Amino acid sequence: MVVFVAMPLEAQRKYNLEELPEIPIDTIDTANPKVKIITFTNNTWKYYIPDYLKLTDAEVFTSHWVTNQVFAYKDVKIGDIPETMEIELVESLADYHPPVLGRVSSRYGPRGRGMHKGIDIGLPTGEPIYATFEGKVRYARYNSGGYGYLVILRHPNGLETYYGHLCKLNVDVDDYVVAGQVIGYGGNTGRSRGPHLHFEVRYADLTFDPERIIDFSTGDLKWQNFVLERGYFNVSSKLTEALEEEEGDMGDMFVDKDGNPLSSEEIVDKLEKAAAKPKPTVNDAVYHKVKSGDNLSKIAAKYGTTVGAICRLNGIKSSTPIRIGQRLRVK
Ligand SMILES: [Zn+2]
Repeated sequence: MVVFVAMPLEAQRKYNLEELPEIPIDTIDTANPKVKIITFTNNTWKYYIPDYLKLTDAEVFTSHWVTNQVFAYKDVKIGDIPETMEIELVESLADYHPPVLGRVSSRYGPRGRGMHKGIDIGLPTGEPIYATFEGKVRYARYNSGGYGYLVILRHPNGLETYYGHLCKLNVDVDDYVVAGQVIGYGGNTGRSRGPHLHFEVRYADLTFDPERIIDFSTGDLKWQNFVLERGYFNVSSKLTEALEEEEGDMGDMFVDKDGNPLSSEEIVDKLEKAAAKPKPTVNDAVYHKVKSGDNLSKIAAKYGTTVGAICRLNGIKSSTPIRIGQRLRVK
């Protein structure tokens, strides 16, 4: 019998276990029949998928394989995509793992003047982030467009999942990962206010709401086979590689004063109220149009101010003659 302890990376580093000889000791079955765990003499372990089960040579992992840019399907237009596609998400539930469990702090959809193209899940910095499905790492680096440390996985069915704002990456481009493998650690890098995971699901660079496939309140996958309709896509998702989100002020629109997420009805209500509220004017200037018989003292008295104040506002002297029809600033 093999006793193995999954040591956190930090602990491994402290004892320099990585420098000990790495000789395989044993393989252990996992819930996923395709995946085994190999344990090593230096007290570390790795996931193991037999090569013949990896689909790395499949067209999905060779065509449009771009590892230095966020988007890989720039030549694909929305009209090229079938109106409906049946997508096998998993063969069995062992082929799925939630990316992270936590409070949803912002949902997919219009946000402010832009569009929130993913879902935000609050977490403590350093929380492990898991691959939702098996696949190949297409992108694993710092993105200056706002995602911060970002991992993009491409899955055998053609879907891609994005994991943004990580504090640390745990995979390299071209690695083949299994569902539930730790691909990085959650954080606050990029355009982010407060540690959270920004999670996206894309097909041919186009986003759709991740809540169509995952119930983030429980972490459960909603379907084994999913019908993806072209109408689900956000057509503007290919316009920019930058993360179009302001995690600052607008983020607060979606939580109450205790930081709990609002329901979609409450959000709509709040947005409508914000839109209806008259915008405070930066400049509360008041003007007076000079009428027959007006003089500066009379105007000052009418607006509860002084001749001196009116003169300063208009750059005139008390002796300057005023004309009928002239606009004078009085406040
Ligand atoms: Zn986000």
